[in-house]
Order: sequence, then structure tokens, then C-alpha cells
Amino acid sequence: MRSPIADRSRLDSFWNVDRVVNGVPAAAGAPEPDADRSYAMSADEFRRWGHEAVEWVARYLERVEDLPVGSTVAPGEIRALLPPSPPEQPEPFGAVLADLDRVVLPGITHWQSPKWFGYFQANASGPSIIGELIAAGLGTQGMLWSTSPAATELETHVLDWLVELLGLPDRFRSDGPGGGVIQDGASGATLCALLAARERAGWRDRLDRLVAYSSPEAHSSVLKGARVAGLHDDQLRLVATDEHQAMRADAFAAAVAEDRERGRVPFFAVATVGTTSTHALDPVPELAAVCREAGIWLHVDGAHAGSAAVAPELRFVNAGLDQVDSYCFDPHKWLFTNLECDVLYVADRAPLLAALSVLPEYLRNAATESGAVIDYRDWHLALGRRFRALKLWFVLRHYGAEGLRSTIRSHVRWAAELATWIAADPRFELVAPVPLNLVCFRHLGGDAVNQRLMDDLNASGELYLTHTRVDGRLALRMSIGQTATERRHVVDAWELIATRADQAAAAAGAAPDPRPGARR
Ligand SMILES: *Cc1c(COP(=O)(O)O)cnc(C)c1O
Repeated sequence: MRSPIADRSRLDSFWNVDRVVNGVPAAAGAPEPDADRSYAMSADEFRRWGHEAVEWVARYLERVEDLPVGSTVAPGEIRALLPPSPPEQPEPFGAVLADLDRVVLPGITHWQSPKWFGYFQANASGPSIIGELIAAGLGTQGMLWSTSPAATELETHVLDWLVELLGLPDRFRSDGPGGGVIQDGASGATLCALLAARERAGWRDRLDRLVAYSSPEAHSSVLKGARVAGLHDDQLRLVATDEHQAMRADAFAAAVAEDRERGRVPFFAVATVGTTSTHALDPVPELAAVCREAGIWLHVDGAHAGSAAVAPELRFVNAGLDQVDSYCFDPHKWLFTNLECDVLYVADRAPLLAALSVLPEYLRNAATESGAVIDYRDWHLALGRRFRALKLWFVLRHYGAEGLRSTIRSHVRWAAELATWIAADPRFELVAPVPLNLVCFRHLGGDAVNQRLMDDLNASGELYLTHTRVDGRLALRMSIGQTATERRHVVDAWELIATRADQAAAAAGAAPDPRPGARR
């Protein structure tokens, strides 16, 4: 079938219609395949390869525990396995899937391994993976309510569920002036909060006088967001921390007062609940009091720690949230929902929408104009969006509040156990409190020993952990929160660390750390 072109003369004026529309080859001589052939994957093929793919993922998740956790390929090694040019002819899909084992797996660091303790987890789970598959299958573009009402309404509803599930303040629910939205990550969420705050501060005639605040322990996304918002680096003021790396409220109040005296305009502060380095908890209620008095937008970044609130006894992570302007946390870290899934809540959505909605003619529609619907494109930077809530909905229903609570509680309990084993070993010390599931510790032999120990452990393939610096000295971090982690994995990890410690100390030529503050 030829595509009917109603007015060929309009095309003829700048294209050769015979060539473009009727498929006459540009270069004479080459045999032309059937121009109307469909290259789409048939329903039967999809069924066959889809089943194969699900089987592959199921097998992967079964055996991931036995794979060396960290990938050991050298830079360029994976690319060298790929042909220099894209395929000219369609390939059998079986060949594509076969390359998963040959090309991809060697270059995968197994974040889904139960022996994963690095950074913070990037949790996935069965229901989440299935949700991702179905969201792709539906293939909706949910930029507006009207472009797939279910995508929007399910998101609004599930985020209201989360308010209840986590014991968050009602002001984040969608039935008042506030509400929630799924963002790609905490970085994007924090940027959007900053843009809303900038809007509320009436930035257009005084951008260079605005000042934002965080502690030096805040995530790097805060500075990145400030840059994107047009601030100079010195317009993000870093407030001093206490002995546990938490922001000092008195230092914050003093900085705000000083800036106001100098004619600057304090407009935005980020408090972190569970810093990336050591899980420090900024004192949100005290910071909120300063912000309220000074008219500063307070955003709380609970990227990793926020999920703990599924357990009522861990709701200290929610302290003060009833007095803040915005809050975000990442179900894609510790709530079993794979990337990208961050939740941003605002107490008042008006400044966010004022900052981010731009309505061109081609997006106008009756539902939007009625004011009765949410158009999530106005809540973040992207226009196009997948059915973001589907996998979160699946996870909440698969686990139930009970399953989420129980799993998170186990992680926190095992972290506490690990902390006691570390504290009892005279070669090691804890370097930060362990309120949740992150354990930061060091060998007393000094930086070289800790570096050596971490490198040895990660090279063993038996576990994966990462490091940070606390008070200028190297420390090891173990975050216990991978979906498949069981207590035995934590026991084995500590056994391996304890076993390898003396070797690492000998190899690094350790003298005991002479610096003051080193325990024992
Ligand atoms: C991981 C992390 C972030 C960034 O999270 P993304 O979702 O990857 O953007 C921000 N803040 C804190 C405290 C984090 O731990």
C-alpha cells in the first residue's frame, strides 16, 4: 500500500516525491526490499522473546548472589566486544538476548546482589520489575491528565497512600493546597523545590542577592541545583555542623541574621535527614523555626533515610516535617522500587506550578482549563513521562505495609548488630552513630589500611562496600538495605572483613594511627 498524500504538489515543491513517498531507490541498481514490509515485532514473537526475557531476569536474580559483586572490566573492554557500526540487516532476537551474557553481564556491578553494601542501594524487586514492564507495554505519555487519566490519578492516589503509610503530615496530601509528584530522583526534586522557592522569593529583580543554605554534608545535588537556578557558588552558604555532622541550628540562625544585615535575601535551605556520607540527621524542627521567622523555604532531603518511616518507631526521620515547605525521598533507594522513583511533596503547590508551568496552545485542553485535574508536566522539568506510579503501586500492594515495615526493621536490626560486632573488635571503631541501616567504621591502622582493606574486600567479589571521609580520615560504609539481603549476608560480610583486616594491615605496613581521637 502506498501512503495517500492528498496534496502532492506541496511536497513536490521541495522533495522528490517519487523518491520519498513511493520508495524509488535514490541510487539506481541496489535491489529494494518490499517498501511496505513491516519490521515491527509480531505479537507472537513478542510473546516468545518476552517470555525468554522474563526467564532470563528470573534466572539472573536467582544466581546474582553467586556472581562477583563488583565488575572488574577495564575501561573500553565492553565497547571492544561491540561491532563498530550498527547492524544493517535486522538480527534474530535470540542473538540479541544471547549478548546479554556475553557482552553486558561482565560489565555489570551487581547492585541487586544481596551482598551489596555500597553507596546507598538501588533497590529493585519483583513487583517493581513487573510494573516497569507493564508501564513500557502500555507506553503511555502521561504529561497531562487528559493524555492518560489513569497514570495521573493512580500517581496522586498512591502518593496520598504514602503520606499515610509513612506517617507524613497531611499537608502533603493532594486534597489540600499541597501534594506529591514522582520525580526522576532526589536531585531533580531538590532542584524543583529550589525553583519553587526562588519563585516565591520574587527572584526576577534580585537573583544576585538571594542566599541558599545547607550544611557541607548536604548532597552534591544541592550545589548543582543552585547552579542550574542561576546562583553563584557563594550564594549557597554552607553552615557549620556539630560533632555528628548535623547542621547546627544556632550557626544557621547566625548566618541568616548576618546575611539579612548585609542586604542579602535568604530564601532557601536544605536540611538533610540521613546524609549520604554518614546518615547524619539535621535538626529539622529547630531549622524550621528559623526558616519560619525569616520567610525561608525549607526543603528536607530524606533521599535514603525517608523510607524508614514505614516503621512507626523510626519516625524520628519525620521530625519537623509538619513545618517544612517541601520534602523528598527515594523509593528507588530503600523502598524496593527500581530507578527512577523519587517522591517530592510540597505543602503548597502554587509556587511550584508558578515556576514550572508554561502552557503553549498545542497543550491546551478542556480538562486542564477546568482546573479540576493535575497535569504533572507542571511539577517537574520533563514534559514526557512514563506511567511512573505503576511500579510503586505494585510494590506497595505486593509487600503491604506489613511487609515493608518488617523488611526495613530487619535491615535496621542487622545494622545495629553489625555495629556491636565492630565496636567489640579492638582493631576497629565506629565513626558515626547508627540510627538506621548505615554503618560507618574504620580500622584503627589509618587511611592506607582502610583503603587496602576496602580494595581487597571489593576485589574478592564476595561483597561490595564504599568509603567516605569523616573528620578528614577515611572510613568504610556499609549500607544494609538491599532487597534480597538476609542476616546471613551481613554475618558473612563481617566475618570476611574481620578475617581480611590483619592481612590488609600487614600489606599496608600499618603503624597504629597516631592521631588523637583514635580509639584505644
Ligand atoms: C542519593 C542521594 C541524593 C541523590 O539522589 P538521586 O535520587 O540519585 O538524585 C540526594 N540526597 C541524598 C541525601 C542522597 O543520599
